[in-house]
Amino acid sequence: MRKNVIAGNWKMNKTLSEANQFVEEVAAKAPSNEQVEVIVCAPFPFLASLVEKAKGSSVKIGAQNMHYEDNGAFTGEVSPVMLNDLGVTHVVIGHSERREYFAETSETVNKKTHAAFSHDLTPIVCVGETLEQREANETMNHVESQVRKALEGLSDEQVADTIIAYEPIWAIGTGKTATSDQANEVCTHIRNVIKDVTSNETAEKVIIQYGGSVKPANVDELLAKSDIDGALVGGASLETASFLKLVEAGT
Ligand code: PEP
Repeated sequence: MRKNVIAGNWKMNKTLSEANQFVEEVAAKAPSNEQVEVIVCAPFPFLASLVEKAKGSSVKIGAQNMHYEDNGAFTGEVSPVMLNDLGVTHVVIGHSERREYFAETSETVNKKTHAAFSHDLTPIVCVGETLEQREANETMNHVESQVRKALEGLSDEQVADTIIAYEPIWAIGTGKTATSDQANEVCTHIRNVIKDVTSNETAEKVIIQYGGSVKPANVDELLAKSDIDGALVGGASLETASFLKLVEAGT
């Protein structure tokens, strides 16, 4: 039985004091049970402080991106070594906003996924189609090729530990959620692709989240689906009350 992983992606939001207050409150209230894992993916400047605030609780702190090299002349970048050293446990890789605005490619996503495992970080790999791709019936092929490329060269054990977030781009930050059937159809396809890449046994272990305008009003229906094991959440992760409702739904 897979657990639900509820991950907040704050994007470029909050001040340090707001971030600290949020994690203090969520750390105090989040259930520590085996059925749900709670992750807050915050901007780089807040990570060290948030790891401290989350200590002793079930809340994990994640980054929203990283470079794939350990160190070097990459001005402005943050490495997996640095994240691991801070106590960060997860990292979002290949979010559609990074693919669109920061030239992230399937190749860099693959390099970053490998780098995450080299430094004890769990990658949350984002995949998803544009509205044009959906309307042209290209969703399955597009998502399949993103998943295959992201996982290339990983061991079966690493694949089993990868979190995949299926995020249709047309549903991110738009208020338009994929129906639970639409979301599950793609998540099932992703699991079948992983079966093909590895084995049934490995694919059954992989956490596949849905992301795209998840909120308290639609989370139950999404999480009830056979191949949806949690949510990657932007807007509704910014307020403690709504984020805690999503966490509650995952229990
Ligand atoms: C996201 O940032 O990954 C996301 C899904 O955002 P939202 O929940 O706001 O659509």
